[in-house]
This record gives sequence, structure tokens and C-alpha cells, in this order.
Amino acid sequence: MHRKRAQTQDRFIKLKKLVLLLPLVYLLGCYAGSVKPLLSHSEFKAENEPIRILRILLITDDSYRKDEIEKFVSKCSRLVEIQVGVRFEILDWYQIEWEDELEDIIKMEIRIAADTWSKRDQFDIALTIVNFVQSIEGGKLPLGASDTFFWRYLFVKELDPYIFLHEVFHPFLFRKGHSKDWVMRAGRPAYGNEWYWLTPEDRKEVLRNKWRDFNVMPITEQEEEMKPKESWFYYKIGSVYLKKREFDQAILLLNKSLETNPRYAAAYETRGIIYSRREQYDQAIADFNKALEIDPSFAEAYMSRGRAHYFKGDYDQSWGDIKKAQDLGYKIPAEFLDDLRRVSGKNK
Ligand SMILES: [Zn+2]
Repeated sequence: MHRKRAQTQDRFIKLKKLVLLLPLVYLLGCYAGSVKPLLSHSEFKAENEPIRILRILLITDDSYRKDEIEKFVSKCSRLVEIQVGVRFEILDWYQIEWEDELEDIIKMEIRIAADTWSKRDQFDIALTIVNFVQSIEGGKLPLGASDTFFWRYLFVKELDPYIFLHEVFHPFLFRKGHSKDWVMRAGRPAYGNEWYWLTPEDRKEVLRNKWRDFNVMPITEQEEEMKPKESWFYYKIGSVYLKKREFDQAILLLNKSLETNPRYAAAYETRGIIYSRREQYDQAIADFNKALEIDPSFAEAYMSRGRAHYFKGDYDQSWGDIKKAQDLGYKIPAEFLDDLRRVSGKNK
């Protein structure tokens, strides 16, 4: 009887344990999806060695003070170091004045890439604090962004570790993207405020890419898609330098663009414009020829070649190009037509 009673009690206790355990298991289940419960394990810690110093170039508007940002970055650094052994170091910082780039996140990325291009070997990540104005799907404003070319130009809106950690892990997860839960979930969690943790699988992938060179675009696509993408980005940075009238730097970038994709008509055309501005008309014309050989319907390239011929004094050839540009729907500036009529003594 005693025994029976004991057994029943046992069963009861077991049952009670089970009932009590359920919420606990639920909680553990939650954490079990992240690396948080593993942080103090010695094996886990050993996997994080050696520490990689991540050199951060900080770019701010005036939404936060520099010391606030520094404090925030060092808090985030600790959260990242205990998970993957990466420590942040702010290398340098500067204040930015945006022009029209805020309307388009890609333009923002190109602007930052161009502004920091000469220092690109000295830093790993460029962290820009910014107030987004371009809305994304669903009409919402983004909280953070990372470029998908070099995976090194990061943007965050608020000093919220979830946002920064999310964006800073993206460059190490370029093959993987978002996860269902934890720090790599898309969109800030509506509840709980400490979703700072990677899932074990995401952490593994971060560790795999931990030592990546940030000056090299990681391969995320097939080569035939990768090359045009890379080439386009160099071309865009080169175009920023052209706008700034820094012709040497612009040519270097356009050369890089053309090395990556030798069939890039727009890059030839833009390089030709720079040669024209430097009064190197033969080189300019060679580039326009190349652009037109690749794309015979490239109206702007006819216009640009027409200008180069005009400056060289080859008015007949200039007229020929202007006519082709016009036929392709390009609107020739009236002043240019007037000048060409005057110097050539012809009407068309
Ligand atoms: Zn994301």
C-alpha cells in the first residue's frame, strides 16, 4: 500500500515536473534556436579564436553625437566578439552632407563607395548613420541596409544593436541572407528586445567568412552575372569622380570596369568623354568607336563622337555623327548645332 502510494506519488511528481518543465522547455526551445546558451562553453569560445579586428570607418550626419555612436559601437562589439570573435575598432570618422543620393539606396552606396575609395585598403566596413527617405516594400522606411556588391557599406538609422548587428553580419552571410529567427530575421522583432544572437548555422557561416577581404567582391552569383555587376559598380563610382571633375581617378575606375567587362559600351563612352575634356580627341574617338561597335544604337555615343570631331575640326564627320544621333532620337543641343553650322559653313 505504501509502495502503491509511493508509486502514485512518484507518478504525480513526475507529472508535476512535466507540467512545470513545459514552460521551461518552451523557453529553452526559444534560446536553443540561437547561440546564446552556448556562449560560455569552452569549445564555443575556442572556435572564436583568433579575434579579427574589424576596422570601421564611421560616417555620420548630425542625428547622433560621436561619443554616443562610439559607446554604441563598443557595446555591439562585445555582442559580436562573444559570438564569432570579431572586434570592432573605429578607425576614423567624418561627417557627410548628402546631395540627391538619399532618394535611392543604391545611390547612397555608390556615394559612400566613391567618397571612401582612396582609403579602401585602410578599412573593412563603412558604417553610415543615416535617416532613410526612400521607402521599401510595404511603404515602410528601412532601418538598415547593406550593399550587395562589396558587402561592406552599411547604413543604420538608429543606435539599436539589433539593427547594427543585423547589418554587420550580412557581409559575412552574403551567400545566405536572412534567417527565420534571431538577429538575421528580416525586420525588427516586435517583441523582446534582445534578439542579438545568431543561430548556430548562421554563426558557422560567419566563421567560414570571418577573414574575408572586404576589398574583394564576394562571389554570390554565376560568373556571367557577377562580372557585369562588378563592372557596373566600378563604372558608377567612376561616374561620380567624373562629376567631381577628378578625371585621373575616374579613368582608373573606368579602366577597372572595362577590365572586368570589356564589352561595356557605357564605360567606353564615359571614358571617351573624359578624354574629350582633356582634349585628347583621338583617344576619345577610339573609345566612342568601341562603344558604337558594341552598341550601334547608342545615340549618346554618336553625339559624344560628333563633339570630339567638332573640336578636332573634322566638321563633316561631326555632321555625320550628329545626324545619326538625331535619327536615334537624341535631342541635339541648339547651341551646339549653331556652333557647328557657323564653323562648318553648312546647314546640316
Ligand atoms: Zn537584412
